Amino acid sequence: MPDFSEDTIRLAWERSGGKCECARSLHEHTNGKCHRPLSKDKRSKAGEPGAWEARRKGVIACIKVTGMDDWHKCEILCWDCFTKAHEKSFHGKIAKFVRWRPFGKKK
Ligand SMILES: [Zn+2]
Ligand SMILES: [Zn+2]
Repeated sequence: MPDFSEDTIRLAWERSGGKCECARSLHEHTNGKCHRPLSKDKRSKAGEPGAWEARRKGVIACIKVTGMDDWHKCEILCWDCFTKAHEKSFHGKIAKFVRWRPFGKKK
């Protein structure tokens, strides 16, 4: 997955107001949104308070848009939401599928 430029992330961060932008119904956030406060210097700092990550919104939308580096397509997520969203993603499904294959030794 192509990464975002620093400018893109800065714009997305400013839009987010330093809070998680997640509004996934699957996460059952109070009031429908996460809004967890984040620390700007904690990007990709998994496990630390205020950790977050920038995530591309919608893979299909991203392919259609010519300018790949579009901050409108960049979503600021707290680490919890990022991990959860990732689990639900295509890669998560593949990983699950692979796990079910009868390869390797059983304990
Ligand atoms: Zn969140
Ligand atoms: Zn969430």
